Amino acid sequence: MTISIPPDHGRSWWLREALALEEFAGSPAPALEGDTDADVVILGGGYTGLWTAWFLKQLDPGVDVVLLEQDICGGGPSGRNGGFMNSYWDDLTHLCAWFGDGAAQALCEAGEASVRAIGAFCDQQGFDAWFRGDGLYTAATATSQVGEWADSVITMDRLGRSDQLTVLSTSEIRAKIDSPVFHGGTFTPFGATIHPARLVRGLRNAVLAAGVRVYEGTPVSRFGAGGAGGAPAPALAQTPGGRVRAGAGVIAINAWAQHWKRFHRTITVRGSFIVMTAPAPQLLEAIGWSDGAGLSDYRAALHYVRTTPDGRIAFGIGGMQPDLARTIDPRFAYDAGGIRVAIEDLHRMFPTFAGVPVEAGWGGPIDVAGMHLPFFGTLEQGAVHYGLGYTGNGVAPAHMGGQILAHRALGRYSPLLELPLVDLEPKRFPPEPIRSPGMLVANNAILRRDRALDEEQEPNPFTDFVAKLPRRLGYNLGP
Ligand SMILES: Cc1cc2nc3c(=O)[nH]c(=O)nc-3n(C[C@H](O)[C@H](O)[C@H](O)COP(=O)(O)OP(=O)(O)OC[C@H]3O[C@@H](n4cnc5c(N)ncnc54)[C@H](O)[C@@H]3O)c2cc1C
Repeated sequence: MTISIPPDHGRSWWLREALALEEFAGSPAPALEGDTDADVVILGGGYTGLWTAWFLKQLDPGVDVVLLEQDICGGGPSGRNGGFMNSYWDDLTHLCAWFGDGAAQALCEAGEASVRAIGAFCDQQGFDAWFRGDGLYTAATATSQVGEWADSVITMDRLGRSDQLTVLSTSEIRAKIDSPVFHGGTFTPFGATIHPARLVRGLRNAVLAAGVRVYEGTPVSRFGAGGAGGAPAPALAQTPGGRVRAGAGVIAINAWAQHWKRFHRTITVRGSFIVMTAPAPQLLEAIGWSDGAGLSDYRAALHYVRTTPDGRIAFGIGGMQPDLARTIDPRFAYDAGGIRVAIEDLHRMFPTFAGVPVEAGWGGPIDVAGMHLPFFGTLEQGAVHYGLGYTGNGVAPAHMGGQILAHRALGRYSPLLELPLVDLEPKRFPPEPIRSPGMLVANNAILRRDRALDEEQEPNPFTDFVAKLPRRLGYNLGP
């Protein structure tokens, strides 16, 4: 069957849907023209920057906050993602090993609180972001994935949290969502799905209404502690139209931090792509998927799949890398090759959708951290704070991150500052010229290995060896 690849619409399906509604389009924000002073300057208009702005105003309504975004707020991954909201229960085994049981559980509970708080925020603000707290299913989509959940089951059991994970037989998971490639799986009740762009645009409106000065179309060429072009300031942002001097600064630029020397070795960038089908509610009903539950699998380059209220499937694939990925170029936003793979894999998982048109395809960059965990901290000079490294799990954690960064920027205490992600020293990637080619080779091997296992074949031993190298080298990446 010939696959028809949707054209590049520039923005994600989510963001186009949201911007078509006055409620989420909001009024345009100007670009910065001229110099200005503020108490806090935030770089980045995604969830992290916007939640930080929101919590700054919650902590102190009088604080003067400037937020700078090169595109429009939500133009980056915050308006392009799958809308899965996870806490950290999935990672509990690793978290216990790294941080100890108490700190690991505190992190999972804080993550879970953020999932609930985001749903409550949408209600309080009176906008419908399609929040559905119906939990998340994770399926084994090849026999090699069966039992991948064993460590989690043992850890949850040991900590008395077996309520967080139910193991499902093949017939049980297929009774919930029917796919011929499912071989059992798990259900976790704590996850939720949301319309990512309605969330980020609704949050933008709330931040504007709270009095934050938002400048869009404003790329920042220099950011940090500074004294250039006037009196010294603890935080200074330089843009084409002027500069902002502030008492504190927050860096919330996700994968773009890769371009900054300070962060270059703390993240590596991957692409993730999503395709959106036309509505087919009768086909969804036929496979039993009637609620807002999310679905993913146990591949290393995982698939994440969810539905919309009008009966579409949004099907995503992670772990894609167009080339050496040294810069974030337009292929992260749209790559016909990545979109084709997503469509093929959608048809493999749900063959009855093979005749349903795919109306949109898009992608975005992922800030992959070595431990698969974000890290929040403060630069050496003391007034500039940062949060990044979400590794494809940032929708809910950015809410937690915004609270951490707001408290840091105002010098206030919060129990969240005691979470192990705060001042976490990220595992560093090797320097160039080793890092980019090394990650490309390993990533290609991971994809080839997943593909062989999808087809129930043994992966080539060399491919298998290379795919497992990142983990052997101590990174929480790959099989
Ligand atoms: C395709 C895809 C699917 C995903 N699916 C999920 C999912 O289902 N669940 C989940 O939890 N996570 C998912 N993620 C990850 C999630 O989207 C991110 O972790 C989250 O949006 C991070 O928010 P952020 O505010 O830190 O970054 P962003 O949303 O990327 O915001 C950073 C902003 O900084 C701006 N910026 C960068 N440099 C500059 C500069 N020099 N000057 C001015 N502005 C600048 C960018 O334009 C951008 O808008 C997905 C990501 C992608 C790409």
